[in-house]
Amino acid sequence: MKCLYCGCTDRQACPSGCYWAAPEICSTCAAAPRAVVPGQLWRDVDGNARVFGVVRVDQVLYAVLARTRGKNAPRGRRPFIFPVESLRRGDDGWQRQQEQGRG
Ligand SMILES: [Zn+2]
Ligand SMILES: [Zn+2]
Repeated sequence: MKCLYCGCTDRQACPSGCYWAAPEICSTCAAAPRAVVPGQLWRDVDGNARVFGVVRVDQVLYAVLARTRGKNAPRGRRPFIFPVESLRRGDDGWQRQQEQGRG
């Protein structure tokens, strides 16, 4: 396995050491500020969406997202992809959401 973000591998971990935080995303990158990692909740003007994965297409990283609620949700929770860099920049009003308290 190879990290999508930094390219570290099972044989060549990050200098400080790392483990797999998610498929193809190492713990170093998952802990980075503004990292986009499966399981996170993000939000734009249409509502919340959860990150289900990160895929690389032609050297560009995309987050795989699915709506959790909001006006687009009733049309089936079809996943969609959005460039990771655009999420990080906050294009279209995207912001990371903190999970509501779960104890
Ligand atoms: Zn990494
Ligand atoms: Zn690493």
